[in-house]
Amino acid sequence: MELFDTHCHIDVEAFSADRPEVLSAARVAGVCGMLVPGIRADDWASLLGLCGEHDDLWPALGLHPVFMGSHAADDVARLEDHLQHHRVAAVGEIGLDYRVGGADRAAQKSLLETQLVIARDADLPVVLHVLKAHDDVLVLLKRVKVKGGFTHAFNGSVQQAQHYRDLGFCVGFGGMLTFERSTKLRHLAATLPMDMIVLETDAPDMTVSQHRGERNSPAYLPYCLEAMARVRDIDPQEIARITTTNARRVLNLGVTNVEGK
Ligand SMILES: [Zn+2]
Repeated sequence: MELFDTHCHIDVEAFSADRPEVLSAARVAGVCGMLVPGIRADDWASLLGLCGEHDDLWPALGLHPVFMGSHAADDVARLEDHLQHHRVAAVGEIGLDYRVGGADRAAQKSLLETQLVIARDADLPVVLHVLKAHDDVLVLLKRVKVKGGFTHAFNGSVQQAQHYRDLGFCVGFGGMLTFERSTKLRHLAATLPMDMIVLETDAPDMTVSQHRGERNSPAYLPYCLEAMARVRDIDPQEIARITTTNARRVLNLGVTNVEGK
């Protein structure tokens, strides 16, 4: 069985003490690939270094909307420069987050649009972080036509999901699906077309119910798989096959990668 973790922050400090062990556990659990999204420009070098050491880690670089205060004026230029000089699978994690009161929505939108243009020009998919802002993100995606991507930890409406699908996006489901109280999310997971669903852990955050209160890990992706299999009443093997195929399609990863990975 091959699983793909489409959103895993394995590069962050929370894994610095035991990263090799976490990666081994994930591989034993069937995780054949992990997309590692960037958050801040200062983290990109170590993220790229880590992904360069492991054939199953794929880097994405981007400026995260939750960390607007950490981004410097020349970070956008640094992003363009990094995309020219490094092999990167996607632009992300980028998006809009309206959860926090007082969020500068105009600044977030402007940064998102700039990064969408960069992704489009680099012919790369994007990794989206969207909270309470799907309609605004969809407006931007209709204006700047990127080659699809992932909307991570999706919790919008069926209608919004359909718009993402039309734009070449898959939506990610993770640990929240393992909680019985996630009734709306479970309904979404059961309803959306299978060709737009991918799995993710968002490790070290958003852990599964089986490890509530602990650090999340890519090794827990099978719990998300099982939850998806249960809500859809489909064999887990089949869910694994379809979601991994979807992830690879969005990232343009062939079955055997000719470019050395
Ligand atoms: Zn993330």
